[in-house]
Amino acid sequence: MALKIGIPRGLWFYDYYPLWKTFYEELGADVILSSPTNKNTLDAGVKNTVDEACLPVKIFHGHVLDLKDQVDFIFLPKLMSAYKNEYICPKFCGLPEMVTHSIKDLPPIIDTEINFNHSRKNLMKTVYRFGSYVTQNPVAIKHAYNKAIDVYHDYKSKIKEGNYPINGEFYSNNLRSEKTPVTIAVMGHSYNIYDKYGSMGLIDKLHEQGIKVITPEMMDYSRINEYADTLEKKMFWSYGRKLLGTAMYFADVKNIDGIVYLSSFGCGIDSIIEELVERKTRKDGKMPFLLITIDEHTGEAGVNTRLEAFIDMIEWRKRNETNLSTHG
Ligand code: SF4
Repeated sequence: MALKIGIPRGLWFYDYYPLWKTFYEELGADVILSSPTNKNTLDAGVKNTVDEACLPVKIFHGHVLDLKDQVDFIFLPKLMSAYKNEYICPKFCGLPEMVTHSIKDLPPIIDTEINFNHSRKNLMKTVYRFGSYVTQNPVAIKHAYNKAIDVYHDYKSKIKEGNYPINGEFYSNNLRSEKTPVTIAVMGHSYNIYDKYGSMGLIDKLHEQGIKVITPEMMDYSRINEYADTLEKKMFWSYGRKLLGTAMYFADVKNIDGIVYLSSFGCGIDSIIEELVERKTRKDGKMPFLLITIDEHTGEAGVNTRLEAFIDMIEWRKRNETNLSTHG
């Protein structure tokens, strides 16, 4: 019988799921995905995580609990660094330890370390370690990895074309309406903005109003890097660098009507990045900016009210800006 490998639908899921799913399926394993985030996932996660953890980490614990009794292994790598001289959040680095201390009686976990801070020369060694949970055949592992990389590149291209990575697949729903020709950039960590339940359906809410949505993952990374490279000091958090570079690009090119930044309460990285993004876009770029900070206690009605007021303001501005004198 094929080994069952459980992949929790949280954190790096929205960036890397197609890669790891393909890799393990090519090696002959069954990949089991936790259910989409729902109230049970959140409640279970909150109950089994330390209070200080951010909402995405609590949700992640809920997904692990969902998989716990159905699989032979849980995929839970120790993601330290994906790019040279850059780091992921410390909570990602300590995730295997945090989860195993918080949840008892887990099946064995695949906690191989991914650390490309110094270079990628050990890439294949890391890949073999991941594959060794299923087979000891290096040729099969290399073949599975090559296939997985192709699928991953295809996934990234689809997102750049404007598709949203929901449930590890795509959906395209990005039509600009005749009635409301508004484009809004939804910014934040991928696991915040693409998790329908965790984000309270933010992207869907905007689409329902006929608003076109752009996310950082749809941007050209080389342009983002060009902007991020102009910062006085290198931003060494990978997610922070992406968000800041994107904000600087929008502030310069001004091809959107506003920005909604979705942040998690208690996120140390966001507390710096959201402030810098706001400074670059609202203050320097004169662009409407709305910050929504969420945790498990956030009420959806309050978020809806703020979002509606923000959209009204943008639409008013669009309708009237051509009637206003440039001198006010
Ligand atoms: S970057 Fe922020 S939101 Fe993401 S895991 Fe770390 S603390 Fe949580």
